[in-house]
Amino acid sequence: LAQLFRPLDLLGMVYRTIRQGAIDMGAMFDLIDTPSEITDALGAAPLAVTRGAVRFEGVQFGYDPDRAILKGIDLNIPAGQTVAVVGPSGAGKSTLARLLYRFYDVTGGRITIDGQDIAQVTQTSLRGAIGIVPQDTVLFNDTIGYNIAYGREGATDAEVAAAARGAAIASFIQSLSDGFDTRVGERGLKLSGGEKQRVAIARTLVKNPPILILDEATSALDSRTESEILDTLEAIERGRTTIVIAHRLSTVVHADRIVVLEAGRVAEQGTHAELLAANGVYAEMWARQQAEREEALAVGE
Ligand code: ATP
Repeated sequence: LAQLFRPLDLLGMVYRTIRQGAIDMGAMFDLIDTPSEITDALGAAPLAVTRGAVRFEGVQFGYDPDRAILKGIDLNIPAGQTVAVVGPSGAGKSTLARLLYRFYDVTGGRITIDGQDIAQVTQTSLRGAIGIVPQDTVLFNDTIGYNIAYGREGATDAEVAAAARGAAIASFIQSLSDGFDTRVGERGLKLSGGEKQRVAIARTLVKNPPILILDEATSALDSRTESEILDTLEAIERGRTTIVIAHRLSTVVHADRIVVLEAGRVAEQGTHAELLAANGVYAEMWARQQAEREEALAVGE
């Protein structure tokens, strides 16, 4: 499965390499943040989120100077709305999300949050405002409570418990003999893919960010777990500006708007119904995926 954030792959790698006892997560994020050329602009001010409106204005980007990946993206995500980004593999969907989190700087155009250029605000404030629910969550060899509380320094037990309820994992935790004190991770209780994703959702609820990035490709989960997780995700999207990076179309039908990326450009955008009616790239992708689904079902019978 393609992952949303390669830097999170790196996190996994770093984690596996140095997973001894207590790990200072702040230090781990520093490991990811520091090798890149991303630095705070001189006199950078903290981001002031008023509503959480996100705009991509003529954004251009390439990992290598001789190969453009995003070729002028204009995208307006009104505060509180959910926009799903779909498109063929390699179109640049995850790259969009990485730029918003400022893992990289754009090479042309700009990205703003409530009118502020994200390259001109402090990275700490930017990243504090954005929550990420990745496909594959790395759990620390610590308690499940710690793993949830990690979302925000100083989170109280009551906040952790509320987040667990919001992520629909509270009753599972209560069923464990040590409850929130149960150790998880490689040296503790192994959680399923769906349970891990719920921990990630709870962690994000503790963080309570105005802006969310969801990697909604859930093919690692069985379809019942997937639809339960989708319900939970829909609940946490409410009231937040959300970008869903979707590798499968079945998960994006509810989005306020669907943006189809193709070869680094916005090919189409609209609601599911509008895009089907337009009979373009999206309609074609949808028809293909439905056919594949039916084929898979037939094989399964
Ligand atoms: P998928 O659905 O397969 O995950 P995607 O639309 O999310 O695809 P991106 O991950 O944004 O695609 O990648 C866009 C292009 O950028 C691809 O051609 C990919 O090879 C390239 N790319 C991605 N990450 C890097 C990197 N760290 N260095 C160089 N090239 C990269």
